[in-house]
Amino acid sequence: MSSFETKGVVIKTQDFKENDKLVWIFTEKIGKITAIAKGAKKSRSKYLSVTLPLCFADYMLFRGKNLYTLSEGKINNSFQGLLGNLEKLTYSSYLCELIDICLVDEESNRGLFKDFVTCLYLLNTDAIDYELLVRAFELKILKATGYALKLDNCVLCNSRMNTGSYISISSFGGVCEKCEKEHGVYISKGAYNALRFLNSLDMDKMYRVNITPEIKEEISKVTSLIFSSNYSKKPKSLEMLDYIKER
Ligand SMILES: [Zn+2]
Repeated sequence: MSSFETKGVVIKTQDFKENDKLVWIFTEKIGKITAIAKGAKKSRSKYLSVTLPLCFADYMLFRGKNLYTLSEGKINNSFQGLLGNLEKLTYSSYLCELIDICLVDEESNRGLFKDFVTCLYLLNTDAIDYELLVRAFELKILKATGYALKLDNCVLCNSRMNTGSYISISSFGGVCEKCEKEHGVYISKGAYNALRFLNSLDMDKMYRVNITPEIKEEISKVTSLIFSSNYSKKPKSLEMLDYIKER
């Protein structure tokens, strides 16, 4: 067995046998992995705090035959503040679910890892529109998994587009006025421009963005259509998000 250290965030956990826990960690070095934390369910276990959902830590892991084994964890930020607020909890659970659903095991993606951690830090402050933050992360994860939205040129004829009013869901991008519109959705020019802006924005510049509720709604329609047509599993926390928004 070989051991190594990596930064990571716990995205999911499950009790395993009598005393152990299975922990899904999105790691910086090797992407999403499953690790066993032996004895983590015991009340005095040293793994108790580092195996809580959303914990961001430096983990020491052993690579076994089928699973990784957690041997050590040093917390950078436990993000437990996110767990105590229903809205923040729902948004952060949704981010974790997206990672779980969209990423292939053991495929490193340092850029996305950085965006994810930035996203958790921003959620943890009150300086930012959570919904917009989640939309921006959705666009990042689409990009990271090969479904980047193309909005500067028509996805069908490649002509330059200053703005647009139609997004093709099957071709992942804008369709110009001249091309045929199918398998997509009409949106306002404002939403098109906002989508393009978010699509190219760095996660740590998010605090500068201000977008109307109507446009946010349109953007959400586009991203959720793309997710539901490309990934077989649907995030459960989405329903909770809709419920929160309706209130
Ligand atoms: Zn075209």
